[in-house]
Order: sequence, then C-alpha cells, then structure tokens
Amino acid sequence: AHLDRIDAVDDRVHAFLHVDAEGALEAARAVDAARARGDELGPLAGVPLALKDVLTQKGIPTTCGSRILEGWRPPYDATVTARLKAAGVVILGKTNMDEFAMGSSTEHSAYGPTHNPWDLERIPGGSGGGSAAAVAAYEAPLAIGTDTGGSIRQPGAVTGTVGVKPTYGGVSRYGLVAFSSSLDQAGPVSRTVLDAALLHSVIGGHDPLDSTSIDAPVPPVVEAARRGATGDLEGVRVGVVKELSGEGYQPGVEARFAEAVEVLTSLGATVVEVSCPHFTYALAAYYLIAPSEASSNLAKFDAMRYGLRVGDDGTHSAEEVMALTRAAGFGPEVKRRIMLGTYALSSGYYDAYYGSAQKVRTLISQDFANAYAEVDVLVSPTTPTTAFRLGEKLEDPLAMYLNDLCTIPSNLAGGAAMSVPCGLSDDGLPVGFQVMAPAMADDRLYLVGAALE
Ligand code: GLN
Repeated sequence: AHLDRIDAVDDRVHAFLHVDAEGALEAARAVDAARARGDELGPLAGVPLALKDVLTQKGIPTTCGSRILEGWRPPYDATVTARLKAAGVVILGKTNMDEFAMGSSTEHSAYGPTHNPWDLERIPGGSGGGSAAAVAAYEAPLAIGTDTGGSIRQPGAVTGTVGVKPTYGGVSRYGLVAFSSSLDQAGPVSRTVLDAALLHSVIGGHDPLDSTSIDAPVPPVVEAARRGATGDLEGVRVGVVKELSGEGYQPGVEARFAEAVEVLTSLGATVVEVSCPHFTYALAAYYLIAPSEASSNLAKFDAMRYGLRVGDDGTHSAEEVMALTRAAGFGPEVKRRIMLGTYALSSGYYDAYYGSAQKVRTLISQDFANAYAEVDVLVSPTTPTTAFRLGEKLEDPLAMYLNDLCTIPSNLAGGAAMSVPCGLSDDGLPVGFQVMAPAMADDRLYLVGAALE
C-alpha cells in the first residue's frame, strides 16, 4: 500500500531519491513467512520506513543529496539501519535532503527540491525535508532523520509531523555520513509521539562502533509516551525560554505556542519563564563550529575513494582530478561551508573564530544547566515561522540560517529535543512546539509531547 502511495504522489512531493520496491517487498514477505512459522517477531516487524539518504544501507545507493556520491553503493549497514532490519522494519527507500545535510529547505539537494505536502509551492524544511514529507504525505508511517542544527525538528514543525533529536550519543552515528561530528544525531520522524518512542527504542542504545555512543540503557521513552497520553503532567516543571520569542516570530506561531503552554498548565504542569541569555549567540557559534567540522569531514571526498571522478583522462595530475571532481561534485552551499570552515580553522584565525565559538558553546551548556536546576523541560516554538515558499530564501544564506534559531542550542549542548505539532497558524500551515530536556532525559520529551497531542 505504501509503495502504491509513493507511486501515486511522489512525482509531486519528491520525498524519495531512491525507492527500493523489490527489497521492501522481500523484507515484508520475510516478516510474513516468520509470522507463519510462528517465529518471534521484532518489535516493529513489517512496519514500513523511509531512510534519510545520509545513512548507509548495504548495496543501496547513498548520495547524501550530492553529485559527488552519485553511483556509490555502501558495502555496509549503518548501525541504525542494521537495528531497523533486526526489528523487522521494511525500508522503503532513501529520502531527499539538502546536500550533506546543509540547509533548512531541502532546496540544496543536487537532485531537486522536495515539496511540502501541505502546499506544494512551499518548502518541507531541511535538511531532512524528504523524511518529513514522506511521513506527512502518508508515503511512510515512520522515517529516520538526522539533526545537526534542527534538521529533524524544523522539517517536523513545517510538515505537521513529530520529530525527535535524541541526546547526543544516544543513537549510534556509525554509518551516518558525517557533517559535523560533535553535533550530528539520528532520530525518529513519525505522525504520533508514541510511534516516535517505539522507533527511538529500536534505534537507540550503546554501540561500540561509535566512540561517542553513551553506554547506558535507552531512557524509558515508550512508558513516558503512554503516561503523557493520559494527560497527567502533575509535578512537571516547564520553562518557557524568554529569548526564543518576540521580534521575527510569526503572530500565528506565537498564538499556537501560547495555547499549547496553556494546555500544559491545565494538565497540572507548573509553567515559569526562564532566561537563557547566551542563546542569542547560538546561531553565530553554530555557523563557525559546524562548517569547521564539515570542512574537515568532507576532505575525504577526494575523487579516489567514492562515487564521482572528473578529469581522469591521463592528462591531469591526481591533485587536478581531485580539484575538478570537488568543483563539479559539490554544490554552492557545501562549497560555502567548506570555505567558511577552512577559514575559521586556519592558523591566525583559529582562536578568534573556532576557539571563541567553542567558548560560547560552553556558556550555552551552562545556560541549560542553570535552567534545568529549576525546571524539567524547556519549551519554545520549533521555528519562528511556518513553511516559506520555495525559492524565497535561496539567494540569502543568512535568512536561511535564521530558521535554526530555536533548534540549534540543544545541538550545541548535546541535550534531547522534540518538535510536536500544535495546530495551524493563520495561514493554514502547521506550527511546531519544541520540548527540550537534559542529556539522557529523553523520556521527558515524550511525556510532555504525548500530553499535547
Ligand atoms: N539548517 C542547519 C544547517 O544548515 C541544520 C542542518 C542539520 O541539522 N543538518 O546547518
């Protein structure tokens, strides 16, 4: 049914870069056969899922939305992919994304943009617009995204889906093609909070193949989602982040956010305003740290190891082939990030840019720590506005970057965060409510998120 749905709508939505119909049917039949034999089934046996094209799946094209990886078929499964398969999940295909996860609209994909199912003229968010659009358009009930500065939550907000960035280290990064290694985190995209919790508990947990993986059990996310669904928020302390409101926030977004906060109060939560003064600098710090790490991570695309190779005709040196391949294979946003990052890391500028950004990162972590001494979760709108029009911010990188204002702080501090739908703005488009929690307290997101549904 989901493959039929993809056939019917994906030429308009363009959520998928690759649909593996044969593999999906084979996986589904294997679940049927196991059921017929009376075998014990995995917790998500037979449930279809769309996988962001930045995670490897053995033998299946993985492009990261880039020309430079065109034709590359990874020889191994990411840990997330392996755990999905072990749980009986049926992987439908790979979803569209901004090239190497750099962007907020999926317009930076080398394979053309994804369209928001709510209004095909609008962006589905980014970088994981394909995963969010696939779920919003009923092409898949579940998807996997990755979130470096908001790429699961912001698409979730603008497509009316649930998106979770687990605690940094809570979900393995093995086989997740790195953008910014100290920030990247894979997580669930779904239509309900409980679905996200079930998916989270399947992909989460320690992995010896990822040196930053936390060696602790997955927080009790499913139990928390079930409790939240009963509407019991007695004793939960909620902090509204003062800095994430005001100028630049669409009135319809602020109105839906305020109503959702009222709902939390009515369910027994205590709501207070909290100040996180350094959040104002989060965007600036992020756009130094993330490009710095990216400039280093993307050095491995050298025309020798993966995918594309340009100018290999016997007349060019190895260095020329490398330069020609990178010139042809990377899009403008990726080149912008590589140049920004290389500059920020260069000797003479390192202390002034990268070093300062790291200090700001510490101050932001301290803001969170101070806030969590008073409250259990922090809340804000997920994005300042609803989905903007395709093309609207493409020529203005700074306007595009401003979309990540509310989502970036939790990446910098390594905590957990969720976007849950909280109604429609005056323009008829979905609004996202963000819940943030301390590292390894992901269950609190599910408690509050499920109570809001
Ligand atoms: N939009 C942000 C960026 O362009 C975040 C991307 C992400 O989370 N992968 O860097």
